[in-house]
Amino acid sequence: MNYIRHKVSNFISKSNLHGNITLSGLVKAANRMNIMVKPYSSSKRMLLMLRLTKESNNVPALCVKDQDNIMIFYDDALSEDETIFAIAHEIGHIELGHNITFKHNDRQEKEANTFAHYLLTPSNNYKIANKTCVISLCICLIIIILLIAPWRKNNQPTSLSSKGLNNTDTSSETVESQSTFSEINNSDICYFTEKGEVYHLYRDCGYLKNSKTVISNTIAHCHKDRLCSACKKRHESELNK
Ligand SMILES: [Zn+2]
Ligand SMILES: [Zn+2]
Repeated sequence: MNYIRHKVSNFISKSNLHGNITLSGLVKAANRMNIMVKPYSSSKRMLLMLRLTKESNNVPALCVKDQDNIMIFYDDALSEDETIFAIAHEIGHIELGHNITFKHNDRQEKEANTFAHYLLTPSNNYKIANKTCVISLCICLIIIILLIAPWRKNNQPTSLSSKGLNNTDTSSETVESQSTFSEINNSDICYFTEKGEVYHLYRDCGYLKNSKTVISNTIAHCHKDRLCSACKKRHESELNK
């Protein structure tokens, strides 16, 4: 039994048979294994040439070897399910190395039936289904990560910017040094000079004393990355009062 199961999974991977097994899917898989599959209705001449006309009236499907070609003929008057089973049974004979003829002994018939059964019952596609499952799970995870990543990225600076950080600010040093300023907003007015590197919270800051032109604007518009250290200390001490 394990031997047949092994042959089935071998066939599935070699023929690239996947998903729900349909008649056309099974025929294509057989074709990939160089097995030609034809319905009786369109093979009457061929069956006559191979002297299989009489035989074809009695069995749902048969396999023959003509020179190097392996062919399966099937009764297309049957239902799709019956046809699929009949073809899978014939593939079983071929894959299990039985003589390629329509005459098989009872043991071979049983083995071919077992092969067809394993091939067609969903649990036998377990390996493939499993693979598909793992792949779709991975894709889902990637999508989730991709969806969450920008959200997290946006979320962190948002919480910081509400504490008074310039949105264009990327310096982690600045982020750290200013994270304590819970009451500074980007819309707050600040003071700065054109060439200065920092902005000030207080117009009377000592560092602005000697500057002739002091500009005032909102923090968001000052285009300075850092807050003056003196103003920072003063602001902190005022907060703690
Ligand atoms: Zn058979
Ligand atoms: Zn200052």
